[in-house]
Amino acid sequence: MKLPRPIRQVMQHMHPLRNFVSQSRLALFAFTLIVFGMALGGLESVVEPGVADFSDVVELPLPTRRMIASESERALTPGESVTSEPVEDWLTVTVREGQSLDTIFREQGYGPGLLHEVIALNEDTARLTRIKPGEAFEFQEDTDGSLSRMRYALDESRYLLVDRLPNGLSAYTRERQLSTMMFEAKGVIDSSLFMAGKKAGLSDAMVMKLANIFGWDIDFVLDIRGGDRFFMLYEKIYRDGEYLRDGEVLAATFVNQGEKFQAVRFEADNGPQYYAPDGRHMRKAFLRAPLNFSYISSNFNPKRFHPILRRVKAHNGIDYRAPQGTPVYAAGDGRVIRSGYDQYNGHHVFLQHANSIVTKYLHFTNRTVKNGERVKQGQVIGYVGATGLAEAPHLHYEFVVNGAHRNPRTVSLPAVKPLEAQHLVSFRQHAAPYLNQLGRLESASMYASRE
Ligand SMILES: [Zn+2]
Repeated sequence: MKLPRPIRQVMQHMHPLRNFVSQSRLALFAFTLIVFGMALGGLESVVEPGVADFSDVVELPLPTRRMIASESERALTPGESVTSEPVEDWLTVTVREGQSLDTIFREQGYGPGLLHEVIALNEDTARLTRIKPGEAFEFQEDTDGSLSRMRYALDESRYLLVDRLPNGLSAYTRERQLSTMMFEAKGVIDSSLFMAGKKAGLSDAMVMKLANIFGWDIDFVLDIRGGDRFFMLYEKIYRDGEYLRDGEVLAATFVNQGEKFQAVRFEADNGPQYYAPDGRHMRKAFLRAPLNFSYISSNFNPKRFHPILRRVKAHNGIDYRAPQGTPVYAAGDGRVIRSGYDQYNGHHVFLQHANSIVTKYLHFTNRTVKNGERVKQGQVIGYVGATGLAEAPHLHYEFVVNGAHRNPRTVSLPAVKPLEAQHLVSFRQHAAPYLNQLGRLESASMYASRE
């Protein structure tokens, strides 16, 4: 069983693609790891001595996590009470498909006059004519059944409050306090990464994030062994003091077959990214595989004996089997040097990258880029198909360096430019306390395992 690599490779860096990767693929990923993990069951946990400790790192106070809403909280409408609404007596109505505020009001027994009054209050209430399924309204009523207050979430940290005051209805925007807290987690893999994550109190999504960070260096299907360990510092987001959702991984260590990898999240010019302690990007300049594939149906083989032609005919690429319509991503930043169709290659795209590297993608069902266009790593360039000489939907993928075909599975991929000098200093300052804390977590767990 193959791990759908590009999920982890692509999700990490391409924000538009995050939405694209659906729950079902996440589940497939989880399932893959769990099933694979079962195969590892029974392997004994090993803790290697000699994991570096960080006693020589200067101990710095950890940066204070931002209190996201603390600024805006002071911007409450003058005269408005700061005490939070009681939660117990709100009636929650979730918007269903095809519902408007009008139908919701009628269901609650409120007349059209009230609806018009609410919508006319301000810009935010005018927006209530465009509500979506899944959004929620909360109502409080007076003893006579008339509306006394209504709440509607504008976003994660703000809601609209319509309040009946003695002189009529008023609308306010109110802030909810979002706060971020940092947590530690550690685990030893004995059955699977997901099991170890669960034991450590991590959500599957958080385990995915961890795998995404190290997925450029570690193949989480082929390389994971019993006894592999992880240590991480991550965020949880709270709203009005209650857990809302997980945040980001701030720093992590992964020990794979005795080899130690570390990453720290840091924001330089291109938004937040993960860097090794020496400032190298965790990300590589190329995706190892440019799609979420089911399995490899034909490997790179310069001496393949062709069963039909009955002679040696090189297979200059890798055939990745995947369902028709599976998106194919640009393996790296580059420019489209060919986007076309012929009877052999079907719909195909060639990309020119830096360092005299060309990548080729064949048999698309359709292409989404044009000749000459610039593409970014992870951008969809077409969809898996069986056009040209192809018996079943698959991607034929070639990696060409200076005109020579290389095995895309094993070719050493060029690194992304490391942090520049002006960022490196602040990165080191930023990273030191996290690495120090990870180090303490690692030594503590080593001490515990010796007892
Ligand atoms: Zn092929």
